Amino acid sequence: MREDFLPYGRQWIDDEDIAAVVEVLKSDYLTTGPVIAQFEEKLKEVTGAQYAVALSNGTAALHAACFAAGIKEGDEVITSPMTFAATANAVLYCGGKPVFADICPDTYNINPEEIKRKITDKTKAIIPVHYTGQPCDMDEIMKIAEEYNLLVIEDGAHALGASYKGKMIGNIGDMTTFSFHPVKPVTTGEGGAVTTNNKDFYEKLLLFRSHGITRDADKLLKDEGTWYYEQQILGYNYRMTDIQAALGCSQLNKLDYFLEKRREYAKLYNDAFKDCEGVIRPRQLPDTLSGWHLYVLQLDLDKIRPDRRVIFDELRIHNIGVNVHYIPVYYHPYYQKLGYQRGLCPEAEKLYERIISLPLFPKMTKEDIMYVIKCVKEIIGVYIKR
Ligand SMILES: *Cc1c(COP(=O)(O)O)cnc(C)c1O
Repeated sequence: MREDFLPYGRQWIDDEDIAAVVEVLKSDYLTTGPVIAQFEEKLKEVTGAQYAVALSNGTAALHAACFAAGIKEGDEVITSPMTFAATANAVLYCGGKPVFADICPDTYNINPEEIKRKITDKTKAIIPVHYTGQPCDMDEIMKIAEEYNLLVIEDGAHALGASYKGKMIGNIGDMTTFSFHPVKPVTTGEGGAVTTNNKDFYEKLLLFRSHGITRDADKLLKDEGTWYYEQQILGYNYRMTDIQAALGCSQLNKLDYFLEKRREYAKLYNDAFKDCEGVIRPRQLPDTLSGWHLYVLQLDLDKIRPDRRVIFDELRIHNIGVNVHYIPVYYHPYYQKLGYQRGLCPEAEKLYERIISLPLFPKMTKEDIMYVIKCVKEIIGVYIKR
């Protein structure tokens, strides 16, 4: 058994990253300086989007996108329950109501048919989540959005560098949000961004990021002097620092390599579990290239004796930092108090009982992957029904 704990995700920081941060620390601007724009340029290159706005974290990015989309009291926004709570929380921040649409049982992404079933005359937007880094069925989702005149905000926290039918995530829906938390595809410590091709959304995002304040002479209602600025809407301080942005620039230089590693390791898992009784692999849609933020193994509970908890704890005993992504959002006590009830999304609820996220990050070695595979197979082997 291995001595050290293998986490499910971990950052990769090298000397280049450290040098980039040190350079900013020695410069004139720790925040609101020139490196923010450099980072945003790089995000535009990676995603192909026309505009990018760096923010303090992925949750702020979701909040800003919901604000720019005009979500307000009384509006309904359809999203997946199989996500981090922040996705739905952003709708609540704006006074809107998150409406959960069930997932596809094989890809675990939001099911377009279920989106349609949840549309009412209050529905304003859809927030598909590219869960684990695998793009949602965006053709279907964009078709529904067009038909019902809804905005699409993609939660791309897992999916920087992923693509759908040759299009990069970040360049499909009305807006796409990203997170740069240490476990995410690239990190800035804490950090986030929104990409869009819409100038109006872009300008709203900029205002929202910094108190609702503008100094742009074209936008000011008056001109009282060169010191003059105006707060035009109620915004927040959701700015990213230049220290973070410098780390982000350096990290983005390595994104292709990170993705290559993740894809290589995911393939090792996929190949190893292909004919392994008792486990089910995540199906990948054709014409999509996942960012493989997570490798989620599904236990086939019809074929093994104990529940997920037993398998999970055994893997932890073997020093494997398995995790569960996610508890359906509306299971949380806060959402239960709002009136959401269990039974809302049966596929997501069923999946939740069965999933285990295996370690997957670029800094792992092939030996780490082989160790995880060996342990999973041994443990499942003991518990398989005969
Ligand atoms: C990480 C994550 C977020 C939130 O991002 P933060 O940077 O942690 O605020 C939102 N949605 C999903 C799907 C995430 O994984």
